[in-house]
Amino acid sequence: MLSPEVKKEIQQVMKKYPDSRSALVPALYIAQREVGWLPPEVQDEVAALFEIEPAEVHAVAGFYNMLYKDPHGKYHLEVCTNVGCKLRGSDKIVDHLKFKLGIDFGETTTDGMFTLDHAECMGACSTGPVMSVRPVHHELGKYYENLTPERVDQIIETLRDDGFPASLERDPAGPPPHGGMAEPVLLARVDKPDSHKIDTYLADGGYAALRKAVGMGADAVLQEVKASGIRGRGGAGFPAGVKWSFLPKGVYPRYLVCNADESEPGTFKDRLLMEYDPHQVIEGVIIASFACEVKHAFIYIRGEYGFAYQRLVQAVDEAYQHGFLGKNILGSGYDLELTVHRGAGAYICGEETALLTSLEGKRGHPRLKPPFPAVEGLYSKPTVINNVETLSNVPHIIARGADWYKTFGTEKSTGFRLFSLSGQVKKPGVYELPHGTTLRTLIYEYGGGTVDDKPIKGIVPGGLSMPILPADKLDTPLDFESVQAAGSMLGSAGVIVFTEDMPIVSLAKRTVAFYRDESCGKCSPCREGGGWLEKILERIEAGGGRPEDLDEMMRISKFIEEQTFCPFGPASVWGLQSAIRLYRDEFLAYIKKTNPEGKAPQVPVRPIFRPDVGKPAHPRD
Ligand code: SF4
Repeated sequence: MLSPEVKKEIQQVMKKYPDSRSALVPALYIAQREVGWLPPEVQDEVAALFEIEPAEVHAVAGFYNMLYKDPHGKYHLEVCTNVGCKLRGSDKIVDHLKFKLGIDFGETTTDGMFTLDHAECMGACSTGPVMSVRPVHHELGKYYENLTPERVDQIIETLRDDGFPASLERDPAGPPPHGGMAEPVLLARVDKPDSHKIDTYLADGGYAALRKAVGMGADAVLQEVKASGIRGRGGAGFPAGVKWSFLPKGVYPRYLVCNADESEPGTFKDRLLMEYDPHQVIEGVIIASFACEVKHAFIYIRGEYGFAYQRLVQAVDEAYQHGFLGKNILGSGYDLELTVHRGAGAYICGEETALLTSLEGKRGHPRLKPPFPAVEGLYSKPTVINNVETLSNVPHIIARGADWYKTFGTEKSTGFRLFSLSGQVKKPGVYELPHGTTLRTLIYEYGGGTVDDKPIKGIVPGGLSMPILPADKLDTPLDFESVQAAGSMLGSAGVIVFTEDMPIVSLAKRTVAFYRDESCGKCSPCREGGGWLEKILERIEAGGGRPEDLDEMMRISKFIEEQTFCPFGPASVWGLQSAIRLYRDEFLAYIKKTNPEGKAPQVPVRPIFRPDVGKPAHPRD
């Protein structure tokens, strides 16, 4: 079923990787573009090209949400229903779409034009509600943001009448709301016309830091970054320079992977950097690779970020043309290849070992640590993995020095940070501020306060997986140590605010549903436990709750926290645990109101198989 041209294209992509198996997901994207979905016979054809067992391809195709295992309509519409968009009214958009198209989630319109699905966080929390539109014969989709029912109608009619638009630019166009320091660093260029082009970057002194770095030598660059104290911006907060120094001496090849799989709900700052200043990211990748003596680097970007992927690929091409990538960079004798690799819809691939497994062309399952990636990473070779924002800081640290960098922030949390602010605030957006800025300043000074000036009920300070902080922690400085002392973690610095009118049962259920949906399924406590928690919360919400359910959920979540294989397990329950601790009275009042006689629960069992569409509720179930 695959044409000779497509087979040839796949074979070309296979040559881009040190191990051709890494091209499996890109190959499946290409096959899907031609056929519209991935029938078993097509997967078998791909297996033959890779000279691997068909079962291996079926296993990979079955893991990723963006690879279609059944026929879809001409356009795949996905509406984010996660917490950020929910707080901005996505339920209304979902209802409107279902009514307009006459279909439910998982169904296709009778004319074959549209398949509708819900999506987990798509990195548009400040500009939600958001819908992604992906034609099944395209590889990349387009986001439509700040949706209203009227805008949804226009989009549907335009797709029917005129087809898919030529540009993947955000709709509405331009960067999302942002602000912060009077003299921004990482966001200094994002408002400029053509901020993504190399000429704009060069005019602003771009790639001068790379020139300086190659003059300094690899070890001096590493020592400068180490001296800056910069800590990882992806979530764990490990010092980047220390991580680089863990690479074993004399072991080659070694790799660098930029983690651009930004998927933590409430976090959308890397998307802004990649879309509107991709050369800043690329220069950071090149300098870090030089310091770590890496000859092949990768940017692993989440599959949903079609526009960011397109801009990164264009920027990488420009960097090659200008001699910043490839052989003998700037006459230094240093060579570097950079490959941009798309994921295919799996939150777990943001976890560094799952990302590596995915990049090797397999299901994105985490690996046991140790060995840590610095010792045994991609293709079992030493590998550095850094987040987009972390690497974007590197050119500035090299250009202006570690001492300059340390004038921002606190002693142990140096520098500035991109805070993704979302939820029920007047001015959600990306704010670049020094570590140590208080939650109150971020929310009230920069975020304009809460919608309708309602009292704050809780704040998630570091992406959805982090424990909720109550309103009396508003004066907590946003640095790693202070947020931890307050009872949560800074994580990815995705700050989600919710006010008194947000029902905690609903919020807890949506949070738990996300992690149940995204569990990779490798270990039982996470795979099964998340489903148990979701069912209990569904029952409570439906009026079948009992007071003892709260202790039962704490017991199950404790088991998940302590017994799972990777950090996803604990992170999947911290939000629920904090909700029960902080808002126990509200849970109990809800249970009492909806089930006053404490009747035996009427369990609205979530079917494992959806009889309405005849397919599993989730490809990984
Ligand atoms: Fe997979 Fe969850 Fe186990 Fe991590 S904790 S390996 S995500 S099942």
